[in-house]
Amino acid sequence: MDRPSLDAGDIRWGWTCPRCETDASVTRDPNSATFRWECDDEDCAAVGFGFTSRRRARLALKEYHDRYQNIYR
Ligand SMILES: [Zn+2]
Repeated sequence: MDRPSLDAGDIRWGWTCPRCETDASVTRDPNSATFRWECDDEDCAAVGFGFTSRRRARLALKEYHDRYQNIYR
């Protein structure tokens, strides 16, 4: 379904934690066959899950980031 011209693997945005700017990992959950993003900082509990694709997880991470910036600006 994804447009072939947009290769999410080459895009750098959306890969940092909305709260602490630490790199966030997007991984696939083999149990539920969904994707999740998770902050790499163990002291930061930011996480999102249940996304149907790696790209959706990334987009959600960006939206989360935008919302967070708007609230705490
Ligand atoms: Zn974090």
